[in-house]
Amino acid sequence: MMSRRRLLQYAASASALAATGAIPGAIAHAFADEPGKRVIPWKNWSGGQSCTPSVRIAPSDEAELAKIVTGSATPVRAVGAGHSFSGLVPTEGTLLSLDRMSGLVSADPAAGRATFKAGTRLGATGALLADNGLALDNMPDINKQTIAGAISTATHGTGSDIGSLSTFVAGMRLMTASGNALDIDAAKTPDLHQAARVSLGALGIVTETTLSARPLYKLKRRTWTAPVEEMLEAAPELWTKHRNFEFYYIPYSGMTIGIVNDLTDEAETPEPVNEDDDGLRQLQQLQDWLGWAPSARRWVIQTILGGMEPEERVDFSHKTLSTERNVRFNEMEYHLPREAGPQALREIIAAIEDNNIEVFFPIEFRTVAPDDIWLSPFYKRESCSIAVHRYHEKDYTPYFTAIEPIFRKHEGRPHWGKLHTLKAEDFASLYPKWRDFLEMRETLDPEGKFLNPHLRHVFGVAS
Ligand SMILES: Cc1cc2nc3c(=O)[nH]c(=O)nc-3n(C[C@H](O)[C@H](O)[C@H](O)COP(=O)(O)OP(=O)(O)OC[C@H]3O[C@@H](n4cnc5c(N)ncnc54)[C@H](O)[C@@H]3O)c2cc1C
Repeated sequence: MMSRRRLLQYAASASALAATGAIPGAIAHAFADEPGKRVIPWKNWSGGQSCTPSVRIAPSDEAELAKIVTGSATPVRAVGAGHSFSGLVPTEGTLLSLDRMSGLVSADPAAGRATFKAGTRLGATGALLADNGLALDNMPDINKQTIAGAISTATHGTGSDIGSLSTFVAGMRLMTASGNALDIDAAKTPDLHQAARVSLGALGIVTETTLSARPLYKLKRRTWTAPVEEMLEAAPELWTKHRNFEFYYIPYSGMTIGIVNDLTDEAETPEPVNEDDDGLRQLQQLQDWLGWAPSARRWVIQTILGGMEPEERVDFSHKTLSTERNVRFNEMEYHLPREAGPQALREIIAAIEDNNIEVFFPIEFRTVAPDDIWLSPFYKRESCSIAVHRYHEKDYTPYFTAIEPIFRKHEGRPHWGKLHTLKAEDFASLYPKWRDFLEMRETLDPEGKFLNPHLRHVFGVAS
């Protein structure tokens, strides 16, 4: 039994936990010390992944982290913001958060670089970089992720000439299974650089990243609606002409919403009210009321969207590229050869409508530039990304099972942080540098300290 005095002692730390969302080391050890006790269960943003680690801990520096990595229960897994849908994070061993290892370390505006501690949230980078006259080249849909978590899965935004966030990484510090921190960059450690920039947390714990950044810039965003065939025909021209282009297909409507961003010096416009959540709820209601009558549902959505005027907004990139997503969902996203994208989307729409699949979430279509990172889904391939979402309270399997073969037929590579059913053999044929990565992983972590069941499955490593 834990004594009353010990409980009181840890109550103070608990308020820190509530305030920061991090688990101070003291609390984790308090419970881990108790034989048979389990510490706080964990679940991801969508609620689709969960675990009950024997230790949850948030080190405050590399020395503390080294002790955890070398001496704590395995598998040792890092969690960022818990925004991945796939099983990358769950562990019954040690779950560690770098929430207490966050913030700007240094910025060099002349060189266009800034070094951050790895637990820094993407949302925090905007103001910290802007204070130094800098900004990231792109952002994903939301900015809640940590830098380390985002780069570990090749998190991306949209833009034909802009790579994933992992391509912004000019250097990093990585603590390996031995407890040593390696300084990694393209010049000194070229292979490690290409392996570690997308590594699923399998090579070690990233403690710092140096990111390339560009001078602070403003974007003018234009949003409009168009029938899906019109959008698909215009897509190659739109992704070539505009800095950022994406569109959403609204299921059972034949309609899309397009978004483009271009550089501008125009004055900022007032921040609009975010109506995305309300829009989603309306689409959900339409599904509930008119799901049995697809043509009526189509007519209603077309009438609403047809009445929408194009909108424009001007603001600094870090304020306009990401938005809030409050309606929770599970997601599958594949990255396809870019030219295959429009046809793949046509097939997805047909599969949904022919099989009357219940779905109201818009399907997202984006483009990403190629890179040379070993496990990047954009490795040496101009890509487009297509994402399907299912409301978090609903079983996503029938929908995703119907759509995944279309992604696979077009040689899609799945987003590492999103749901997929691929195995090691599949990845071996999709990734030219697969074997090199496996060898690097084996060298850095021969005992498989960082491998949880999902990663053993992905890498084909026996338990
Ligand atoms: C609402 C929503 C919107 C999203 N939008 C996009 C989008 O626009 N584009 C996109 O590409 N993805 C998107 N995603 C997916 C998300 O960006 C990725 O799954 C990302 O990896 C999550 O980052 P995280 O900080 O939550 O990390 P987690 O999900 O907690 O972890 C991801 C991986 O990083 C590893 N990791 C975390 N910290 C460290 C560390 N310090 N050292 C080593 N490894 C570490 C973990 O072990 C795990 O393998 C979205 C997800 C949600 C829920």
